[in-house]
Amino acid sequence: MNCQEAQSNIMNYINHNLSNEQTKEFIEHIYSCPNCQDELEINYIVMVGLQQLDDGEILSVDFRKKLKEDMDMRYKEAVREEERSRSIRVILAAFLISLFLWILGKVLAFIV
Ligand SMILES: [Zn+2]
Repeated sequence: MNCQEAQSNIMNYINHNLSNEQTKEFIEHIYSCPNCQDELEINYIVMVGLQQLDDGEILSVDFRKKLKEDMDMRYKEAVREEERSRSIRVILAAFLISLFLWILGKVLAFIV
């Protein structure tokens, strides 16, 4: 993901509108790019701050820490989800191959 893509996804990230894969790529970019990190921070502070005012909550003092925690949590979750769906695909593929071999064996036994 490049800076342009990352910056156009900032609002989607804050509003939880990204897929696991997108979330992972987005956060990886943010971790490695101070410019986009600043951009995300500003947007995050504004959005979360407004929401907290709306809800009548007392404003969190440390937005930066909150954002970091939120990012770490969502990153781990996105990675975990991605691994889970990958292992499901592997298991499914293994199952289909053994099913195919089993059928092939039956067919060959029948023919021979
Ligand atoms: Zn960037």
